[in-house]
Amino acid sequence: MVTLPRARIMSGMRPTGRLHLGNYLGALENWVRLQDEYECFFSIVDWHALTTGYEDTSAIREDIREMAVDWLSAGLDPDRSTFYVQSRVKEVAELHLLLSMVTPVSWLERVPTYKDQLQQLAGKDINTYGFLGYPLLQTADIAIFKADFVPVGEDQLPHLELAREVVRRFNNFYGPVFPEPQAQLNQVTMLPGIDGRKMSKSYGNDIGLAATAEEIKGRVDLMITDPARIRKSDPGHPEVCTVHSFHGAFSREELPQIEADCRAGTIGCVQCKRNLAGRLQAAMAPLQERRRFYLENPGRVDEVLAAGSEKARRVAAATMNEVREAMKI
Ligand code: SF4
Repeated sequence: MVTLPRARIMSGMRPTGRLHLGNYLGALENWVRLQDEYECFFSIVDWHALTTGYEDTSAIREDIREMAVDWLSAGLDPDRSTFYVQSRVKEVAELHLLLSMVTPVSWLERVPTYKDQLQQLAGKDINTYGFLGYPLLQTADIAIFKADFVPVGEDQLPHLELAREVVRRFNNFYGPVFPEPQAQLNQVTMLPGIDGRKMSKSYGNDIGLAATAEEIKGRVDLMITDPARIRKSDPGHPEVCTVHSFHGAFSREELPQIEADCRAGTIGCVQCKRNLAGRLQAAMAPLQERRRFYLENPGRVDEVLAAGSEKARRVAAATMNEVREAMKI
């Protein structure tokens, strides 16, 4: 029986410290599923981290390791997908340079996140060439593995459109080397932070992927509930409650009953939180078990990153041979 090659997926994350539950449901859980269907390349994109954080790189090596442990704990499987450190695949930098020769500056300047981020990060000096060019670096990340699909959120679509335009332009000049990558819109659950705002480490409202059972309970206890409920018998409004949002992600089958009990005032918030903490602890237990293994076997993490980076480099080197041939350089 002939096995057809699987379509390729490429995606990456910046190593900017420990991941949280929002990152898990927003991306990692989806990646874990994709491993069954696609040939996956997942990159810890440390060069991208430099585009907004170049002044202080003292923690970056530790952040890369932590991200690898988070990924392994979440269930990314180095036997089924390739994960690697971007800076260990130098061919990506070469392709970025060559693509920069054919990319009009105006294409980069019109990427919506460019102007948005310049405003949002006004306190940082990111008027740099590296920051302007980071969507092109993403293009190189994707193109070098000839990825067919890129799992993205809506906000990333303009970046993918740029990638498509750039590879089209390259192919027009030098011949068809790269496929045009397609967006694969994520079906993900968005989790709020424990205070109801967007979950973010910088807001201090996250639940870490590495949280212990005790820490999970502590974070759930702090969650904001319906402020209109003073007594257990007060009718509740689950739609304004953070605990309810989490039940929506972790107690899907019980959700109609939870909502009915809340509205009828037949369950108290203390009990409702206790139920959620139990759910979260059960959902996180397999992650914690895998994390324990890798923390007890740190050499295994290094091996995984070394082997993944080596495999990624082989694929990238083959693409670069084609690129140099096509460009006659
Ligand atoms: S009973 Fe549950 S869903 Fe209703 S307000 Fe309290 S914590 Fe939220």
